[in-house]
Amino acid sequence: MKTLQDQHNDTVAKIATEIQARIIDNQPVHIAKGGVSHFVPLPGDRRFKGMPIDISTLKNVLRVDVKSRTCTAEPGVTFAELVKITMAHGLIPAVVPELEGITIGGAVAGCSVESMSYKYGGFHDTCLEYEVITGEGKILRCSREQDAHAFEMIHGSYGTLGVLTQLTFKLLPAKPFVKMEYRKFDNFEAFRAEMRERCTIGDYEFVDGIIHDRSTFVICLGRFVDHAPYISNYRWLNIFYKSTAELKEDYLTTFDYCFRYDTECHWITKTIPMLETKPARFALGKFILGSTNIIKWSKRIEQILKFKKRPDVVVDVFIPEKRFGDFYNWYESEFDFFPLWVIPYRMPKIYGWISDEHASNMGDALFIDCAVYGKPNAHPTIDYSEILERKTTEFGGIKTLISRNHYTKDEFWKIYHQKNYNKAKLQLDPKGVFPQLYDKFLRP
Ligand SMILES: Cc1cc2nc3c(=O)[nH]c(=O)nc-3n(C[C@H](O)[C@H](O)[C@H](O)COP(=O)(O)OP(=O)(O)OC[C@H]3O[C@@H](n4cnc5c(N)ncnc54)[C@H](O)[C@@H]3O)c2cc1C
Repeated sequence: MKTLQDQHNDTVAKIATEIQARIIDNQPVHIAKGGVSHFVPLPGDRRFKGMPIDISTLKNVLRVDVKSRTCTAEPGVTFAELVKITMAHGLIPAVVPELEGITIGGAVAGCSVESMSYKYGGFHDTCLEYEVITGEGKILRCSREQDAHAFEMIHGSYGTLGVLTQLTFKLLPAKPFVKMEYRKFDNFEAFRAEMRERCTIGDYEFVDGIIHDRSTFVICLGRFVDHAPYISNYRWLNIFYKSTAELKEDYLTTFDYCFRYDTECHWITKTIPMLETKPARFALGKFILGSTNIIKWSKRIEQILKFKKRPDVVVDVFIPEKRFGDFYNWYESEFDFFPLWVIPYRMPKIYGWISDEHASNMGDALFIDCAVYGKPNAHPTIDYSEILERKTTEFGGIKTLISRNHYTKDEFWKIYHQKNYNKAKLQLDPKGVFPQLYDKFLRP
């Protein structure tokens, strides 16, 4: 009887052979991981072009080592599946993105951020080892100690350097419930000062914030607890993000805490008429609510996007905390879209894919991820996506590549580290089986 690890090795060997065949065919490939993608759908999407390399069966947790508090899993494991499995051992990944369907491979190759990021950074920062199939069909194991450059550059490479096939990462002790405290402020400076203090002192396990409107600023603080006097449920009729403006404290199961924004896909449900009303949620909730459902529906209506002037703005921008005040002043007066999700994120070190020039403009290891979910973008002459991108660069920040991107090649490589990327490309994909990063996201 084959073990899960044996089955994994067989699957990886098959995928490697398939990639080798693509070199002979001279066919560029696209990594088809199955499930939903957390990329904002765009009309005429080019990001999924190329011969699909099917990796959809790579979705098993291979082992949880309770003693060393580590887990080894395949890239297609979703965070919801992972948390269920690790919680059975009283453990949790150190970074759990808030949507149930995000996969561990996607979080490393793309990006990730959540309320423990102020301590640990992104999920990739908690990883110890990757197994990767290179563009030459070779199987490589890399870590901070072995092939360190490849290990570092896989994060944020968005499937352009190789296929992640196995990941080993750290786990933390967890308790069954989370007690939430909501601290409310009516002005930005007080909100910012409190967030900075909580991040400096580190006295809560979880820290994030929601700016509901120009005068309602909420810091959401969470701690693990063994017992809860009551447990709230935001899976159907009640709306989590609204509760943060109404309540002083709350209790959730740890699983529900991790995925507290999932039911509304943060607040994308706000953009769907009536979906925040109880009668509509009662009747349709089971079919429409939940990030995976919402993303599937938005894919189904992709055709309609062609008739929209521009897609709504859905993107995360990481602003150095030192510039957060200037950024927010601009955001409030000119961008003016609420709620705004605000998550502190500490980069343990400057990531290898960030250029030296841009790194010198950042001037801070603590970033504030400002997550914009659903700003309408139909103004006749102003493209808010483009403006947000420009302003983020101006404030020394970094924008994720998950939606529309506007950079010229020159602008792009002033932010991203071309030399480091090319070095990794040469090592991992010298024949160009996977697309180039700039081409995948920006080529007109
Ligand atoms: C509406 C919305 C809400 C979001 N909310 C959050 C949030 O709350 N928290 C958070 O952390 N993030 C959030 N994100 C961002 C999300 O985590 C990232 O976009 C992440 O990269 C998505 O991973 P995925 O598993 O969906 O993979 P995909 O979206 O399918 O892929 C992401 C990238 O990774 C590459 N990739 C996937 N698997 C592999 C692999 N095995 N090997 C190599 N490359 C691979 C793909 O080619 C692609 O370029 C959100 C995004 C959206 C659109």
